[in-house]
Amino acid sequence: VKRGLRALINRETISKDGKKVELGCNIGNPNDAEKAHENGAEGIGLYRTEFLYMDRSDLPSEEEQFSAYKKVLEIMGDRPVVIRTLDVGGDKELPYLQLPREMNPFLGYRAIRICLDQKEIFKTQLRALLRASTYGNLKIMYPMISSVEEVRSANTVLEEVKEELERENIAYSKDIEVGIMIEIPAAAIISDLLAKEVDFFSIGTNDLIQYTTAVDRMNEKISHLYNPFNPAVLRLIQQVIVNGHRAGIWVGMCGEVAGDKRLIPILLGMGLDEFSMSAGNLLPARRQIHGLIYEEMKNISEKVLEMSTAEEIQQFLTEATSQ
Ligand code: PEP
Ligand code: MG
Repeated sequence: VKRGLRALINRETISKDGKKVELGCNIGNPNDAEKAHENGAEGIGLYRTEFLYMDRSDLPSEEEQFSAYKKVLEIMGDRPVVIRTLDVGGDKELPYLQLPREMNPFLGYRAIRICLDQKEIFKTQLRALLRASTYGNLKIMYPMISSVEEVRSANTVLEEVKEELERENIAYSKDIEVGIMIEIPAAAIISDLLAKEVDFFSIGTNDLIQYTTAVDRMNEKISHLYNPFNPAVLRLIQQVIVNGHRAGIWVGMCGEVAGDKRLIPILLGMGLDEFSMSAGNLLPARRQIHGLIYEEMKNISEKVLEMSTAEEIQQFLTEATSQ
C-alpha cells in the first residue's frame, strides 16, 4: 500500500456532502482476501469461485469448497462477502466436464445454465456455501441470469439444499442475502421484475458491455468499440440502479467499470450503492470519492444520460470532473 494512501485504509467511503457507499474487492481465490483486507476493502463484492474448478482434473469436493469459502468469510469477519456461484463456459473451460465445442461459447452453455442443468454440481456448491455461512457475512450471487424463471429455479435448488441440511442437523445462517449479476441486457431490461425476486443486484459491466454492443470483450480488432461510455450501456446501468432502488434493494457493480476513475463520479451520481474492484484500485477510489460532491455528480450524470455519443460524454466528463 502506497504511503499517501495508508491513512485511508480504515476510513469510510463517503462523498464531501455525506453520501456513503461501500467499496468491495473482487477476488479469485481465498488468499486474495488478505490483500483485500490490507487495502481497506469494506467487503468482498465478487468472489469468482470458478477458479476453484479450473486447472485440475475433476470437480472440487464439497469439503474443499467449504474450506475455501470459510477462509474468505473468516478473513473478512463481519464484512459482507458476495460469493458468486460457478461461472464457467465462455472463455473459462473445464475439460473434465467434456462440454461440447460450441460456435458461440459466450452465448452458449455456461454459468447458471450449466448449474440448472447439472444440479448435482450446483447442489454441492450450495451445500458448501450454506455450511460456510455461519463463519461470516455471506451473500450468494448467481451469474448470467437472463430471466425471472432462472432466478426462481436457482432458488428452488437453494431451498432444497437448505431442507437437506436441516434434516441432517447441519447449521447455516438463516439470513443469507441472495442476489444476481446483471450482465445480460435482458436482465437489465427486466430489472424491475428481477428486483422483486432478489435481495441485491451487482452489475457486471464486463459482460454487459459485450452483450449490449455485440462486441467480443476479448477481440483486439474491435476493442475500440468496447466502450463503457457508450450511451446504451450507461442508460442500462442507470435503469438497473433506478429499478433496484424502487424495489428497495441495494445495487452494486463488480465489472471493471466500478474501479475506473473516469466513471466513478457518474456512478456515484446515479446512486450506485457498492463499488467492487481489484485491490489496487480500492484506496485511490476512496480518495477520489472523498473529493466528490454527490449532488453535483447527480446533475452531471443526468446531463450525461441525455448525450448522444460516447465521445461527447467522455469529453464532457473530463472537463466536468477534473479536480
Ligand atoms: C462481469 O461480467 O462484469 C463480471 C464481473 O464477471 P466476469 O468478468 O467474471 O465475467
Ligand atoms: Mg461476467
